Amino acid sequence: MTLEWLARTGVPWSAEPGVLASRRLDRSGWEPAGTPAAVAFPRSVAEVQAVLKGAQETRTPIVPRGAGTALTGATTAGTGEVVLDLAGLNRILDLRPADGVAVVEPGVITADLDRAAIAHGLRYAPDPASLELSTIGGNIATNAGGLRCAKYGVTRDAVLGLEVVLPGGELLRTGRSTLKGVAGYDLTGLFVGSEGTLGVIVSATLRLRPLPAADTTIAAYYPDIESAAAASVALAEARIQPVLTELLDQATLDAIDPGLRSSGSALLIVQTDDGSAEAASVLAEGAVSVQVSDDPDRLLYARRQALPSIERLGRPLIEDIAVPRSRLAEAVRSIGEISARHDVPICTLAHAGDGNLHPIIVAGAYGTPIPAAASRAADEIFELALALGGTVTGEHGIGVLKRQWLAREVGPFSLDLQHRLKAVFDPQGILNPGKAL
Ligand SMILES: Cc1cc2nc3c(=O)[nH]c(=O)nc-3n(C[C@H](O)[C@H](O)[C@H](O)COP(=O)(O)OP(=O)(O)OC[C@H]3O[C@@H](n4cnc5c(N)ncnc54)[C@H](O)[C@@H]3O)c2cc1C
Repeated sequence: MTLEWLARTGVPWSAEPGVLASRRLDRSGWEPAGTPAAVAFPRSVAEVQAVLKGAQETRTPIVPRGAGTALTGATTAGTGEVVLDLAGLNRILDLRPADGVAVVEPGVITADLDRAAIAHGLRYAPDPASLELSTIGGNIATNAGGLRCAKYGVTRDAVLGLEVVLPGGELLRTGRSTLKGVAGYDLTGLFVGSEGTLGVIVSATLRLRPLPAADTTIAAYYPDIESAAAASVALAEARIQPVLTELLDQATLDAIDPGLRSSGSALLIVQTDDGSAEAASVLAEGAVSVQVSDDPDRLLYARRQALPSIERLGRPLIEDIAVPRSRLAEAVRSIGEISARHDVPICTLAHAGDGNLHPIIVAGAYGTPIPAAASRAADEIFELALALGGTVTGEHGIGVLKRQWLAREVGPFSLDLQHRLKAVFDPQGILNPGKAL
């Protein structure tokens, strides 16, 4: 394919094999067919517009890319595709403490925005575990969740307005810069979670929240997963709203340190930021031990060690389902049965406060084909989510890997409508084709 059109835009780009290889994959393990044709590195909105105009004219498929940390294949790029690397648009354009908003370019790293807000006594609340790597543009395009979202909401709840470049190069402004406002259809909401298939986000107006005075962190060990899940439901019933409620099952604790087994078979880590002193006494019901600390780093250590520890066991397939939180224990128990039936290790972490589970399947050694048993176990986990009244993705998105499951979850009428919506924004289907729908 000729890339003369890309050269004519004046936007920096590369077709060096090393550069192409570095932008071909995301963090899902999914391998696209072939290698992308080029990577473009725009430095301004006008340059994004130039690339999308040229792409429309030449019908060249474009894959928008932030940091490439997606876990679904959404950011992978194969034969003939041009990667639009947005990491260079990384300025915080405005931060208005009195209004509680920030305006940022898409390549800003999530944690950098939070740090900038903290300097003003504010916080950018959505905190995916990848926050030191991932970009705001990628977070918006995947509607990323995080540990704090049980209390402060997911990325959607922080996005007030967007500037988006459409295929063809037009600039669309959606939403507003006020905390309230209801004029017109919610196009901002449509772009949030659209996985780069409708337009390229070039700026975002985001809501900031006050930084709480102090956090209290509690680690409670339980004899079994049912007691731990029941404790997280008891918090809700006591009208306590933790910032985060992280559940680690026995297999995860074993992966971190087999010695932890002596403390209990399930660990619940809870953090409150509104002085809810009664959380510890609610959690004590049925617990083996409860520790309270105002040093969150110490008690969150086990949670942070979970993924690196599981990665030492083999290649992790990080799944992502959500169920009504009253059915959390049933979900974790059934995942244990799936693990035993297919003889594949599965370690389960959950953002228990919002019923979001990450069953992590240890799928053989790195570099070997994914065992059929691991794929069957994954399918059964998605079946389970739907059977429990849940969803096949709580926060990571559909990407390539869950397209067949999206059809199962939403049904043919909704899916057809979504394809027609995509065609309104991207009639030639050049934006991240084969992803999300
Ligand atoms: C260790 C680890 C922990 C993680 N933890 C979490 C977690 O707690 N919660 C969670 O939700 N996810 C998590 N993820 C998944 C991932 O980090 C998120 O999906 C994140 O939002 C992706 O951001 P990114 O900048 O890497 O986007 P990318 O992977 O580059 O892109 C993701 C999608 O967004 C599109 N896109 C990127 N930028 C733009 C743009 N400017 N305009 C339009 N489309 C765009 C891409 O085409 C792609 O479809 C984790 C991943 C890892 C590796």
